[in-house]
Amino acid sequence: MSDGVRSSARPGAGHLDHPLDQMGALRRTHACGAIGADLVGSEVVVAGWVQSRRDHGGVIFVDLRDREGLVQVVFRPEVAADAHARAGDLRSEFVLLARGNVERRTPETVNPKLPTGEVEVAVRELRILNVATPPPFPIEEDPGADEIVRLRHRIHDLRRAPLQRALRVRHALYQSARATLSKLDFLEIETPILARATPEGARDFLVPSRLQPGEFYALPQSPQIMKQLLMIAGFERYFQIARCFRDEDLRADRQLEFTQIDLEMSFVGVEEVLAVLEEVTVRAWRDAGGIELERPFPRLSYADAMARYGSDKPDTRVLLELVELTDLFRSTGFRAFGAAVQKGGVVKCLPIHDADALTRGEIDRLESFVKKELGAKGLAWVRVSADGSWQSPIAKFLSDAERAGITERTQARSGSLLFFAADEFAKAHAILGRLRTDLGRQLGRVDSRAWAPLFVLNFPVFERDEHGKLTFMHMPFVAPVEEDIALFDSDPERMRGTHYDVVMNGLELGSGSLRNHRSDVQRKIFELLGYSKGEMEERFGFVLNALDTGAPPHGGFAFGLDRIAMLLAGAESLRDVIAFPKTQRGQDLLMDAPSAVEPGQLEELRLRITPAPPAPGERAR
Ligand code: ASP
Repeated sequence: MSDGVRSSARPGAGHLDHPLDQMGALRRTHACGAIGADLVGSEVVVAGWVQSRRDHGGVIFVDLRDREGLVQVVFRPEVAADAHARAGDLRSEFVLLARGNVERRTPETVNPKLPTGEVEVAVRELRILNVATPPPFPIEEDPGADEIVRLRHRIHDLRRAPLQRALRVRHALYQSARATLSKLDFLEIETPILARATPEGARDFLVPSRLQPGEFYALPQSPQIMKQLLMIAGFERYFQIARCFRDEDLRADRQLEFTQIDLEMSFVGVEEVLAVLEEVTVRAWRDAGGIELERPFPRLSYADAMARYGSDKPDTRVLLELVELTDLFRSTGFRAFGAAVQKGGVVKCLPIHDADALTRGEIDRLESFVKKELGAKGLAWVRVSADGSWQSPIAKFLSDAERAGITERTQARSGSLLFFAADEFAKAHAILGRLRTDLGRQLGRVDSRAWAPLFVLNFPVFERDEHGKLTFMHMPFVAPVEEDIALFDSDPERMRGTHYDVVMNGLELGSGSLRNHRSDVQRKIFELLGYSKGEMEERFGFVLNALDTGAPPHGGFAFGLDRIAMLLAGAESLRDVIAFPKTQRGQDLLMDAPSAVEPGQLEELRLRITPAPPAPGERAR
């Protein structure tokens, strides 16, 4: 073998000094994980990575790993002196090919934790196909490494069983969605990545055009407009496993690019779309998780979801529910509640009966949590003692009638603990909605379902932004429900939209709606959103013109595939179901993206980078 191949510049290359370090004619016959007692007595060839190596008084044991699992291969000098001699050189993550006989392990060496734990492969021939740098952390279920380290060494990380399993679940999901939707007559059609801005309410990623200097493509936030154009173009049923890009600050568990199972259908109402969504979801859980979901999925209006659960994506397994008290405090002497109601806000209560387990210390902790995390001004509470009296920091401010009203609405009795929120609609619900799930789970007030799918229907078309300006709740193409069209001119905020979500265990799996297929309705919505005629034409002229070419009624949906994969793989983070995810700061630590580019590239694009403005408190350099 040439010196080049043996070069010590390669990690661990000193070990690779055998002329047979190629595959030769030897080919794998079985996956490591597939070597079972049924193969005892047969000769097999296995290939994979060295998980670990142990030297027991001259006999060398190696756990060999491939994507199907682990098998123990053993090197005994009396079986194959050459292979045994070379096995001493093996290190973690070296790549091997080994031929040998499957033998039953002696009873005391059987490993019941391993599916292949009854047998081992007694090696007759060893080929070391490659050497390897020492892994930065053990290739195990729990590598005990910080996630930053795992992401930097993503190749090693991906070799671990949980990530191998997660990407298999993901694969099963793609196949399931394709099979289900093809069977339902949907056509898979790709739409461009270099596209125009789509209004999903996030910031666009822009790609400068070299051929049209000064102009930019936008990466699609979703294929929304394009799939609507496909409906107008007569394809009737479309789907795509689509990559979407949203340049958002990654607060929670989000990714800058993510995958949707995106679909759209023509000549349908809400019912036909929901039937498809239920079918896709049920099949996905069956195909990728081996789980049978109960059908039909329960339904809840947005208004009821908020009123009862304080959330538009409630975990309905949690049995606690909120109670409405606003009307009791329209003319109260208690300022904290009265002021909220005067400003158009609400007073809501989360009653928890038999709540002795929640101590005063716990209540204080909850109060500082909702103040810090959810912007609550405080957390009012009442505990009803055994003698029926109220222990509460607010009781003295309440009239007898108010106390009686609260007792009646909440069914409070001795042992009950009542939490109150008096605030804007969104904030009050966010606070109590969060306490509802946290405390419900903590106290075991949950039903026995492992999976709780739910349709949430009829979200409002519009909402007010922080400046009080009317804005769309999801996106501007959502069709209003037919009965509410009359509210267009009188009270658009109260107008319900056809928007629906699929929710599972308190997580939103995806969203969709019927769309405005008539340009007059679409124009009216743009007008209410504050677009001038000119802006409308400039940004959406092509959509409005397309509607005018004869658009059929249509509607659709997009499932967040990453989130479904996360649920079905039992993963803790979206990053664990994406092969090469980005960090919270939008970086790929393995490939080191984003990165600076050559000045020549910028010149070609006619772009110039200006220095970053100094951060507050920092001196300009
Ligand atoms: N385009 C929407 C989204 O990405 C989904 C849909 O309405 O089909 O959320």
